[in-house]
Amino acid sequence: MPQLTLESLSGWIEAEMPAIETALRDLVHINTYTQSPERVEQGMLYLESLVKHLGFTSERINQKHRLIHSGNHKGPRVMLISHMDTVHAPELDFDHYTPHGDGFVSGAGVGDIKGGLVMGLWAMKAISQMLTDFDLCMVVSADEEQGSPSLCDWLAEPTAHQANYGIGLEPGFPQGPLTPTVNLGVVYQRRGYSAIDFTVQGVSAHSGHPHLGLNAIEALARRIVELHKLNDWEHHIAVNVGLVSGGTSPNTVPGSATANVSFRTMTHEGANQTMQQILDILERPHLIQGELQDRCSYTITTHLPPMEDRAENWKLVNIVLDEAIRLRQPVVAIVRGGGSDVNHFSASGIPCICGMGAPSEDIHTLQEKIYLPVLFERINLLTATVYRLLTEHP
Ligand SMILES: [Zn+2]
Repeated sequence: MPQLTLESLSGWIEAEMPAIETALRDLVHINTYTQSPERVEQGMLYLESLVKHLGFTSERINQKHRLIHSGNHKGPRVMLISHMDTVHAPELDFDHYTPHGDGFVSGAGVGDIKGGLVMGLWAMKAISQMLTDFDLCMVVSADEEQGSPSLCDWLAEPTAHQANYGIGLEPGFPQGPLTPTVNLGVVYQRRGYSAIDFTVQGVSAHSGHPHLGLNAIEALARRIVELHKLNDWEHHIAVNVGLVSGGTSPNTVPGSATANVSFRTMTHEGANQTMQQILDILERPHLIQGELQDRCSYTITTHLPPMEDRAENWKLVNIVLDEAIRLRQPVVAIVRGGGSDVNHFSASGIPCICGMGAPSEDIHTLQEKIYLPVLFERINLLTATVYRLLTEHP
C-alpha cells in the first residue's frame, strides 16, 4: 500500500541518499563517451540492472535507447527525458567520482547527465510508493550529445511516446556561480539549431585566363553576403557561416568551394522560413558568365527544432515554481540558447519543461561538477512536480 506522502518525502530521500550516491558514483565510473557505442551500452546495461532492482521494467527503442516504465499504465503519462552518453572521451581520464568534501563533486557527466539520471530513477521510486495507479516513464537516449539521430522522430511523435507531459533532466543551470543558495533555472524555451554543409561548383581555369573559368570562391562569397542579411536579432534569428574552404592554388581559378552555414531561431515558423530562405540562396546561381553558371549542392547535417514558448509549458513551470516556494528552493524560469532532446519532444506539441536535473557547473569541461546536497533536495522538487501532474491531470 502506498504510504509515502509529499510531507514525508524529505525524510525518505535522506534515508535513500547512500543508495543514490552509490548509483551516481557507479554511473560516473563507467565511461559513456558519445562516440563510443559499446561504452554507452555498458552504461545502459548497468542502468538496466538498477531499474530491475528498483522494480521497474525497461525496453529498447531502435536497439540502443531505453524506455523505462514504472506504474501500471493507468492515468496520464509523464515522460522524464534523459540520456546515457557524455562528451568526455576515455583518454581524458576524468571518470573519477571525486567528492571535494564540501558537497561539491566532480567527474565525467556528473551533471550532464548522470546526476539527472539518478534523480529521475529515485523520483520514479518515490512515486511508486505514493500512488497505486500511475504511468511514469523515463526515456534514455544513447546519443543525445549528437542530437539523438535515431530517437528524434520517436520523441517528436505523440503516438510513439504517448506522454501527456515531458520533463527534461538536463542540468538545473545556476544563474551565477554554483553555490548552495544560487537560483537554478527551469527551462520553458530553447532555441532551435540547424546546420547545412554546402559545396559550390564553378569551373577551374588558369588564373591568367579568368574569363575561361567560373570562380567558385566568388560564387560562395556572394552567397555568404546574402545569407548574413537573414540575421534578424529583433526576431531572434541568428545566421552564421562559420567554416569555409576552397581552391587548389594561388594561380588557379577555383572550381570548387565548401562552407557550413548554421542558424538559430526561437519559433518553428522562424525555423521553417529561415530554412527556406537559406535553401533559396544556396540553390540560385550567383555567377553567370556566357554559357557558364555556378551550381550548389548541400546537406542538412543538423536540424534541432526550437522548444517554443507555449502557454501549455507554463502550466508545468508554474507547478515547479509553486513547489519550489513550498520547499524553499531558489528556482526561476529561464530561456536557454542550447538545445536538448526536449527540443525534439516539444515538436510533438506536448507540454514540457527542461533543466530539472542536477545543479551543475562547467558541464562539458574537465571542471564539470555538481552540488550534491541540492541534488538531493531537487529529487523532492522533481517528485512533487510529477506527483501533481499525475494527480491533477484534467
Ligand atoms: Zn545533456
